[in-house]
Amino acid sequence: MTSEANISKFLFLLCSLLFAGCFFSPQENPKVVELKGDVFGSYYIVKYVGELEPKLAQEKLDKLFHDFNSEFSTYQKDSVISLFNQSKANEKMKVSPRFIEMLEMAKRFHQITEGAFDPTLGPVIKLWGFGGGKRKHVPTKEEIQKALTQVGLSFIKWNKTEVWKEKNDMVLDVNAFAPGWVADLVGEMFEANDIQNYMADIGGEILFQGEKAPGFPWTAGIEKPSEEHGGAIQIAFQIKNLALATSGSYRQFFTENGERRSHIIDPRTGIPVDHTISSASVIAGTAAEADAWGTAMMVLGEKGIPLAEKNGVKVLLLNAKGVKSFEEIFSPSMRIFINDHRL
Ligand code: AMP
Ligand code: MG
Repeated sequence: MTSEANISKFLFLLCSLLFAGCFFSPQENPKVVELKGDVFGSYYIVKYVGELEPKLAQEKLDKLFHDFNSEFSTYQKDSVISLFNQSKANEKMKVSPRFIEMLEMAKRFHQITEGAFDPTLGPVIKLWGFGGGKRKHVPTKEEIQKALTQVGLSFIKWNKTEVWKEKNDMVLDVNAFAPGWVADLVGEMFEANDIQNYMADIGGEILFQGEKAPGFPWTAGIEKPSEEHGGAIQIAFQIKNLALATSGSYRQFFTENGERRSHIIDPRTGIPVDHTISSASVIAGTAAEADAWGTAMMVLGEKGIPLAEKNGVKVLLLNAKGVKSFEEIFSPSMRIFINDHRL
């Protein structure tokens, strides 16, 4: 090739790149709308591409969050779930189809995680002082055993329109999958408004759908699980039409007599998990499922990987090695996924 041909090829390439840059650079794409704020005691960031008016999208989000809280917030005293938690044994309560949907989902997550995810752990969670409970200190063995007698999904009954509990002090707690579920509901809202490219991050439980620009998938990052690192990223990757959720023991915990007590409790013992796994990140088809599995994997640790794989979810556990470094424990399918999509 002559040097002139080389120069014209170079100029052609340069123009093509500039042209592509103008039209496809996601940073410059004016159509990515971003909405953010606080919700459920944490943050949300929602991004989408499409014709939906941002003000209207914001109104729809606010309504969705408000409606969800009125039904499922365990922090709101007059929410439907709080009323259920205050109800007496065998007192039937009329609830919405969405409440029944929540119960069915919770039951499924409980079954597929072989009990590691347990939405009826409320009495034990409260006893340890989490989830609005009063004291944050170690209860006695007797107190734990007593609280555990009020735990068990088989003691909660429902039909198509009503729910009731068979023991007085039972408490439903859906915080381990509610943010993920809300990310899925935000997705449903977008689909109903003809938006197919969006990401909905509800406090770290994230649904990624479509792309931010043609040929540019959304990017995700898994944080280093320690306060010292202030949100530094351990692994960044591209992700499309999947959900990512992370559970960790590094943000919500208390320390007594030098021992760290996490807010995630092992249903088999009624005691907070105490292994060195600092965070569990899960990729699944829906954010609700990823969220529930994230919590379950914090309970199960590395031993839970075969169960997660059997259920088609990908897992990355970050195991604390001193303060500064983390061992990455991949499930086989997560290793393949990260190898293919790592940035
Ligand atoms: P997440 O941040 O998604 O892991 O959810 C943690 C929250 O779920 C805790 O703050 C408790 O309210 C609740 N929780 C704790 N342990 C469990 C468990 N084993 N199964 C279900 N929910 C749990
Ligand atoms: Mg969770």
